[in-house]
Amino acid sequence: MTLKNQIIARIRQDGPISLADYMTDCLLHPTLGYYTTRDPFGVAGDFITAPEISQMFGELIGLSLAQCWLDQGSPARITLAEIGPGRGTLMLDMLRATHKIAGFHAAIDLVLIDASPKLRAVQAETLQSYAPRWCNSVTDLPDQPLFLVANEFFDALPIRQYQRAGPGWSERRVGSQDDRLIFGLTAPNNLDALAHRLDDTKDNDLVEISPTTAPITATIAQRIATHGGAALIVDYGDWRSLGDTLQAIRDHKPVDPLADPGLADLTAHVDFEPLANAARAAGCGHTKLTTQGVFLERLGITTRAQTLAKGLKDTELEALISAHRRLTHPQEMGNLFKTLGLYPPNASPPPGFGL
Ligand code: SAH
Repeated sequence: MTLKNQIIARIRQDGPISLADYMTDCLLHPTLGYYTTRDPFGVAGDFITAPEISQMFGELIGLSLAQCWLDQGSPARITLAEIGPGRGTLMLDMLRATHKIAGFHAAIDLVLIDASPKLRAVQAETLQSYAPRWCNSVTDLPDQPLFLVANEFFDALPIRQYQRAGPGWSERRVGSQDDRLIFGLTAPNNLDALAHRLDDTKDNDLVEISPTTAPITATIAQRIATHGGAALIVDYGDWRSLGDTLQAIRDHKPVDPLADPGLADLTAHVDFEPLANAARAAGCGHTKLTTQGVFLERLGITTRAQTLAKGLKDTELEALISAHRRLTHPQEMGNLFKTLGLYPPNASPPPGFGL
């Protein structure tokens, strides 16, 4: 049975489901989920991410985290972790760029967290010489300094959507009609979790909540506040979003998110405000939200590109120039993608952020 038919059968029996339940099934269903069944990256896949565009992305992130390790007195045993590592490319570039930093690699326990068995296998191959181990959840991260990166992880977490109705909110749920999936609205309810959005919304406005973002961030931040370390979180989104940001991508093109469950990538813009609030509540400091373009420029991407350019000509040189532009230009990924750094209250912030 297709995933679509399974979801329709479940809705017929139990009634409409939240968008979060729908996304979880689409992305992580044990046999038919999008991430469970495929390696979606690259030209032949459905989308391309920053580390797959250029090695410079991972190199600069790796150096920023290694600088934090140096600034915090080079602790002898640390966790270097990535959540949602995809093909492992980002971590590979981070490790390659930092191998000359005396003592850094010797201090690392490399931990990867990924829900996809298929991608875990790809990561095992990419990173085999670094002996990674996998945890199922951030709660399993060891109690020691934590240096963590997450790129395009939070945008894959399930969201719920609510439409404003007077002082209350109707949830936008997934139901079925004949053999199609359709959106519908529940009767309005007052919701404490959205009390702060009554000020900046009006009737019929749509807002989103990602229920797992704050607990995941709180767990990471608690490790960092207690033991030291830093986290770099990169994703598309903003401090707070308004409106429907659910997006389905198949074959590099937007498609209807309800049309083919399990066959398209589903993501939503990341709201960084709840993420920053969860980090603060867990005792961590956080940087200003900074655009990816500015962050990478501050870390020296242009100098790095110039060095790499020296050995290249023709199409390879053009590819490098286009990758630099794609990562940093305001009309490409430069402004849409944002970075937030988490760090212990008494330590310096990770390099690459303004004060
Ligand atoms: N960081 C990589 C991949 C981003 S795609 C890159 O930049 O190229 C999202 C990744 O998060 C995939 O590896 C996917 O398997 C993983 N993922 C998605 N939802 C997850 C969840 N709930 N828990 C753990 N991993 C998840």
